[in-house]
Amino acid sequence: MTSVPLLDRLRALDWRLTPQRRVIAEVMGGDHVHLTAEEVLERARQRLPEVSLATVYNTLNELVSMGEVQPVDAGGGPTRYDPNTKDGHHHLVCLVCGDLRDVHPEGLEALELPRSEHFGFRVVNREVLFQGYCSNCGRP
Ligand SMILES: [Zn+2]
Ligand SMILES: [Zn+2]
Repeated sequence: MTSVPLLDRLRALDWRLTPQRRVIAEVMGGDHVHLTAEEVLERARQRLPEVSLATVYNTLNELVSMGEVQPVDAGGGPTRYDPNTKDGHHHLVCLVCGDLRDVHPEGLEALELPRSEHFGFRVVNREVLFQGYCSNCGRP
């Protein structure tokens, strides 16, 4: 499943693209991209050395509130930011190195909580985290 790249979506939204915001959006493009704010900064600075951490945070926060980037908490560590908000994917994480992949398991759309476990909530989303060991960290 391919999704529209973040930068293209932002252009379509007429988002104000300063040079700094543009490189931030560029380094977050692609599939399986789940960078921390520090990693976004590091990569953005390789293209534009004057990018600041404050700008990275401000931009990420703005993109999150626009719904174009999703914070991902994959069980500990700093928050990571996921540009693929539109395809309803789930995550597979390595318990050792934290490598995080997008996965699209079948059947989850049909997954329902029993009435007795709604606790008055209206459920609008379901997110499943698959955990394991990647091929580099492989463990029994
Ligand atoms: Zn690993
Ligand atoms: Zn993802």
